[in-house]
Amino acid sequence: MIRLQALTKRYGKFTAVDGIDLDVPRGELFGLLGPNGAGKTTSIRMIAGILRPTSGTVMVGGIDIQARPLEAKARLGYIPDRPFVYDKLTGGEFLRFVAALYGMQGPAIERRIDELLELFELAPWKGELTETYSHGMRQKLIIAGALVHRPEVIVVDEPMVGLDPKSARLLKDLFREFVTRGGTVLMSTHTMEIAEVMCDRIAIVYRGRIAAHGTMSELRAQTSSEGMSLEDLFLKLTGGHQMPRLDTVLDA
Ligand code: ATP
Repeated sequence: MIRLQALTKRYGKFTAVDGIDLDVPRGELFGLLGPNGAGKTTSIRMIAGILRPTSGTVMVGGIDIQARPLEAKARLGYIPDRPFVYDKLTGGEFLRFVAALYGMQGPAIERRIDELLELFELAPWKGELTETYSHGMRQKLIIAGALVHRPEVIVVDEPMVGLDPKSARLLKDLFREFVTRGGTVLMSTHTMEIAEVMCDRIAIVYRGRIAAHGTMSELRAQTSSEGMSLEDLFLKLTGGHQMPRLDTVLDA
């Protein structure tokens, strides 16, 4: 459902994403795991069609997002890492605005908006300006906005940041149900536990490349022979096993 071929992004001489190939089929929840600056957000923004690759292609449901962006984006819901909403719109107006971008309006969409606001426990704030929303409420509104047009694919950057435990659980259940029904989710995370609990397969991204990928058990199989934990494997692949000395900053 999502196919990346030699996906590359350069900023001047710096290569942020370096020829990534990846296939995520229908019904799969796939995780990108990697340290700060590895290239996860850059990849996700290219997959969502909001950042132009230097080279390589992104196909969503067989559609090249650069060649036929509107068709590809109609199938896709994108949840960015920072919840951007228009402060002077109410929650209800924001979702109506997003629906209108997809050419949707009328009573069916009004019902859809109400059901999403209900799901994310935002219904009492439907008529309030989003400038009064907390960070987590904005995040939930953005997630509702990504679902309003019933996408087949969800691309999401660090979904759990800022959510309380109940909302985080709701999102986990929602993504699982979404893929069980044939949807596809590609998400980035820093958190090994989240990747482990939520994802069918993961890729460890480091310096713009996929350093390892597979199911958790496949990755574990790679590590067990060496007696390493998954965290050890992650740190080894991403250069984090060389921990800095702390005494210089902590000594009086
Ligand atoms: P984090 O986990 O910290 O969010 P990430 O894996 O999402 O990191 P990216 O945001 O994709 O990492 O950044 C990858 C690299 O590309 C970083 O070195 C970053 O400085 C660089 N980069 C990203 N955007 C730009 C830009 N607009 N101009 C120059 N360099 C950029």
